[in-house]
Amino acid sequence: MVGVRLEHVTKRYGKVVAVDDVSLEVKEGEFFVLLGPSGCGKTTTLRIIAGLEEPDEGRVFFGEEDVTRLPPGKRKISMVFQSYAVWPHMKVYDNIALPLKVQGYPPEEIERRVREAARLVQIEDLLDRYPQQLSGGQRQRVAVARALAVTPRVLLMDEPLSNLDALLRVQARAELKRLQRDTRLTTIYVTHDQVEAMVLADRVAVMNRGRVLQVGPPEEIYSKPSSRFVAHFIGSPPINLFEGTVTPRGVDVGFVVLPVGAGSLEEYSGKRVIVGIRPEDVHLTASPGFIEVEGSVWVTENLGGEYVVLVSVGDVILRARSREKPESERVKVYLDPSKLHFFDKETEARIF
Ligand code: ATP
Repeated sequence: MVGVRLEHVTKRYGKVVAVDDVSLEVKEGEFFVLLGPSGCGKTTTLRIIAGLEEPDEGRVFFGEEDVTRLPPGKRKISMVFQSYAVWPHMKVYDNIALPLKVQGYPPEEIERRVREAARLVQIEDLLDRYPQQLSGGQRQRVAVARALAVTPRVLLMDEPLSNLDALLRVQARAELKRLQRDTRLTTIYVTHDQVEAMVLADRVAVMNRGRVLQVGPPEEIYSKPSSRFVAHFIGSPPINLFEGTVTPRGVDVGFVVLPVGAGSLEEYSGKRVIVGIRPEDVHLTASPGFIEVEGSVWVTENLGGEYVVLVSVGDVILRARSREKPESERVKVYLDPSKLHFFDKETEARIF
């Protein structure tokens, strides 16, 4: 098992810069998630780590070893794809055993490893079946068992849960997390699903347009997003974003002037900024020190245990999370002043 390091990796396809000067360090034993919208370069980054693509610039290290030009077969990695790629004409046992046979393990060692991998993903009683006799979730486990059996230095996963239905996905997600914690395999996992990333990752790298925008533990990315893009991409229901002008009294957002700490936005005086506040920091019940505004309920969404209430305030629709359903159309809304985010309107970078 090793850590993985990318140094200034760039990959172009003609005019498209799929991966743009990416530097990353994945620690040994870490569950690391590459997260971003479709086309942001996550899969290409993973394929470069696997050796399936060669970068135009930059270098890839496994531990201290430079593997940039090493072919995939020599990297001692395993990869699990969205499609699972299990062989239909082979029994589950042989599916898991094949990579071990290819690598020349002795028969008794193959047997031991197949059974251990099957035990880890709880498919010991399915070893005699063919893939078409399995459910989607079971097939996915076969793919994971096959990846684990060779004891890879690094485990790479590209959207491995996306072919499962919603309920199974939630269950498989928890199992993967548990499995990684038990095996402590260095794992790099690609997804566009921010909830999956938050649940699975020790650390997340948020990507957009080939670039890494922020790397950190999920909690940090959620509570201190480094840009408007990251703030908006992470969090469901999404963060409230609106614009305001910096004045001596605070940030004037039209429906209220938000008091901000003296001097903290001094260099933005008279300029427009982007303000963000997460729905859970917008309350329908009063708390001391919160900023009170009034509005009318536009729509109420029932999420089961709680509601998301969309409140029209001035020109803005604010999302609030609430345990109670609002009783009247006119409501008072309370913003937690310590949970406001401010972003530069031009660069969209976090101000504070
Ligand atoms: P998705 O979530 O949709 O799989 P992604 O974030 O994994 O997207 P990549 O597959 O890495 O994104 O693609 C990044 C960019 O590179 C995209 O614009 C894509 O169209 C382009 N690209 C990827 N592979 C190739 C290729 N073989 N030839 C040309 N362009 C490519």
